[in-house]
Formats: sequence, C-alpha cells, structure tokens
Amino acid sequence: MGELMLLPARRGRAQRLNKGQSIKIVNTHGNQVVDTWCFNAEDLGEFMSMEHLRPTLGRIWPQKGDALITNRRRPILTMVEDTSPGRHDTLIAACDVHRYAQLGCKEYHDNCTDNLRAGMRQIGLAVPEVPAPLNMWMNIPVSTGGETSWGTPLSKAGDYVVLRAELDCIVAMSACPQDMVPINGKDCIPTEAHYQVL
Ligand SMILES: [Zn+2]
Repeated sequence: MGELMLLPARRGRAQRLNKGQSIKIVNTHGNQVVDTWCFNAEDLGEFMSMEHLRPTLGRIWPQKGDALITNRRRPILTMVEDTSPGRHDTLIAACDVHRYAQLGCKEYHDNCTDNLRAGMRQIGLAVPEVPAPLNMWMNIPVSTGGETSWGTPLSKAGDYVVLRAELDCIVAMSACPQDMVPINGKDCIPTEAHYQVL
C-alpha cells in the first residue's frame, strides 16, 4: 500500500495506476469537492466520460459498485467503496478562468481546469482536452422540474471513495478552489484532501 499523499488545497495532482490497483480519495475535512478525471495511460484520447456514464448507469450519480466508463464505452474505473452518502456530481464542467471572471473575479483565480493541466504536467503529460470531471462530493440537487442548485457536500470528515483501475490509467484530481459559491461548504473555504494508492 502506498503512503497517504496530500492533495493540497486549491491544487491538482495526477497518479498513475496499473490495472487492478486502486486509489482511495479521502475527503479529509468533509466539505471539499475533488474534481476527478481518468485517462487511459496508453492513449490520453480515451478518458472517463460523464455523458457516456450517465445513460449507462441510468442515473446521474454514480454509486458503490458502478463501473465508470470512457468515451469508448468501456470501464476504466470501478467505484468499489464509498463511505459518503454518494452524492457526486456528473453535470457541472470543471471551473476555469472564465467561470471566475463571470463571478466577478478581476484577477487570476485558481481553477480545476488549470489544476488538471498542472497535475498532468508534473508527471510529464499533457492532456489533449479537459473532459467533464466526476465531481466527487459536489452536491448539485436536481428538482423534478430539472432545476439545479449549488448544494453543500453531504459528506463528513474522513469519508472516502475507492476507485479500482480496470485499465492502466492516470487519475487526476483537483481540490476545487471554488470559494465564491458554497459547493465546498457554507463557509466557502477550500481545503486539502488526501489520496492513497492501494
Ligand atoms: Zn473547481
């Protein structure tokens, strides 16, 4: 088992997994959204895809036991454990400089899109595009009328998910730096999270 690794607040990291290895992602303080991506290690053009996942599951929120599929409709990860209430958003794009400009930021704001690129760069890789992430613990309630809203996480400190690699792959994570809407808790304070290769 690998050591417990820090995913610093507002930053991104990427981790290679061999088929059969798993990664545990820990919501250390309980309110932190972790945008998560997964790419085929042999071909970064194949990646975990939310728009392919939703119709395959017949649900918008993946849960324990679900295979998480790629844009070529084959499993790349399986969610083998989830201690939280299982609310993980698949609808919302990763935050980016444009999102924060729209919210009124006049200067650069850390964002998940740049965190993905930086995390991949740290291990010598460049992503061809920024797929829609699986937003771990991001709580986006959807009403029967189809309206979405910005909820706060339902998770508690120490909750974790375990994702098992079904292919040799790279998992990228961003501790979402969103501090202008309450997706990282009502106090809008982004925090660190942790991860571990099992
Ligand atoms: Zn974000």
